[in-house]
Amino acid sequence: ARFNDPLIHHWMPFTANKQFQDAPRIIARAEGVHYWNTAGDKLLDSVSGLYTTPAGHGRREIREAVTRQLEELDYAPPFQFGVPGTFRLAHELAQMLPAGLNRVFFAGSGSEAVESALKVAIQYHRVRGQGQRQRFVGRARGYHGVNFAGWSVGGMVKNRDAFGLGLPGVSHMRHTHIEPNRFVMGQGDHGGVDLADDLQRMVDLHGGDTIAACIVEPIAGSTGVLVPPKGYLERLRAICDQHGILLIFDEVICGFGRTGHPFAADAFGVTPDLMTMAKAITNGNIPMAAIAIRQDIQQAILDAAGPDAIEFFHGYTYSGHPVACAAALATLKIYRDDDLFARGAALVPKFLERIASLRDIPIVTDTRGFGLLGAVDLATDGAPGKRGFAVLRRAFESGLVLRVASDTVILSPMFITTDDQLDEMFTLLRKILAAV
Ligand code: PMP
Repeated sequence: ARFNDPLIHHWMPFTANKQFQDAPRIIARAEGVHYWNTAGDKLLDSVSGLYTTPAGHGRREIREAVTRQLEELDYAPPFQFGVPGTFRLAHELAQMLPAGLNRVFFAGSGSEAVESALKVAIQYHRVRGQGQRQRFVGRARGYHGVNFAGWSVGGMVKNRDAFGLGLPGVSHMRHTHIEPNRFVMGQGDHGGVDLADDLQRMVDLHGGDTIAACIVEPIAGSTGVLVPPKGYLERLRAICDQHGILLIFDEVICGFGRTGHPFAADAFGVTPDLMTMAKAITNGNIPMAAIAIRQDIQQAILDAAGPDAIEFFHGYTYSGHPVACAAALATLKIYRDDDLFARGAALVPKFLERIASLRDIPIVTDTRGFGLLGAVDLATDGAPGKRGFAVLRRAFESGLVLRVASDTVILSPMFITTDDQLDEMFTLLRKILAAV
C-alpha cells in the first residue's frame, strides 16, 4: 500500500498531514518486540504498541481465545444479557485491584472509561442528595482521552485549544513537573504537598461540597512521564476524604504492571475511589477499557433505583463485549502464567539506569523514569516539536519505534524485552540522538 493510496490518505488526519506524506510510516506486521514495515524492514518496538502490548505482539493464546469466542458467541446486547466472560473478567480484575475497588464497568476505550468514571461520580452524588457536586478538578498537562469530558478535565493546551470552552465547572491544578530535575524518579521529597494543596485552594474558592471528583493520572504519561513528588498523591487523597470528593486515578497507561507494580495505586500506596484502565487490559489486541468502582459507590447507585429501574443511566453497545472479554481473560492469564509483572519489574533498574545514562548527550536536557516508563527531554531546535519529530523519523529509518511528545522522547518497553534487546534499544537511541 502506498501512502498516497486514497484509502489510506483518507483514513485519518494524521496520515493526511504533510510530515507524514514526506516520510510515510506504514506498518504491515508485528511479532514479539518487533514490527515490520511494508518494505520488509524490521523495527524494534520500544513503546509496547502504545503502552498497550507488554506481553508482545502476536500472542497465540489471545488469538486462539478470540477465535474460540467468535465461534461460540460473537455478541449479545449488554442491556439485556450478561455473558459468562464478562462476569469472569470482572471477578478476576477485582481480585487484582487494590482492596475496595471491586465493582467493574466495561467500556471500549480509555476515553470512554474516563467519561464513564466522571458520570459515575456525578450520579453517585446525585442519588445521595448532593446534586450540587458538579465540579471536576483535573490537572495541567493531564491527558484523559479525547471525548468531551475527558479533554475538558485534561490539561494539554493544544487538545483543548481547538475546541473552545469545554465542560463548565472544571478547574486545573498545576502539573507535577515544575522545574527540570526537581523530582527525578519520584524521589523528590519536597513540593508534593504544596502542589496537591492546589486542590485545597479550589475547595476554599468553590466550596468542597461543589466538587464531584478530582481526576489525575498517577504519573502523567502522554505529556512526558511526569512523576509526582513524594506526598503528592497522599495529600490529594486526604483532601478528597476530608471533603467527600471522589478521587479518580486514570491508569490507562500506568496500570497492569507498567510501574513495576500491578497498578500505580499499589506503587504509590494510595487507593482511589474509581480507577480507569484500558490498553494493556487486552495486550492491545482488542479495544477494551474498564473502570473499577468502590463497592459502596456502586451500591448507592443501585439502592437508589427501584427494583425494576435501570441503576446507571450509561452504557455502550460494546460494554463487556464477549470477544474483548475473551481477549482480556487470555491476557490476564498470560500475565499470571508468565509472571509477567515480575519480569517487567526485573527490567526496571537497568531500564532506569539506561534512561539516566543519556544525560551526557548534549541535546538532552532532562531524563525521567518510573517503572518501565521513561522520558528524555531534548533541547528545542527551532519550532517546538521539530527536533522530536526529527528523532521519530530518524528512529523509524534506523529500525526503532519510539514515541515523542513534542521534544520529549518516551519509552515504555514490553515486559518480555530481553537484556540484549534493551541494549540494542539504547544503542540505537543514543546514535539517533547524536545525529539530530
Ligand atoms: N487516559 C489516559 C491516561 C491515556 O493515556 C489515554 C490514551 N493514551 C486515554 C485516557 C484515552 O484512551 P483511548 O485513546 O483508548 O481513548
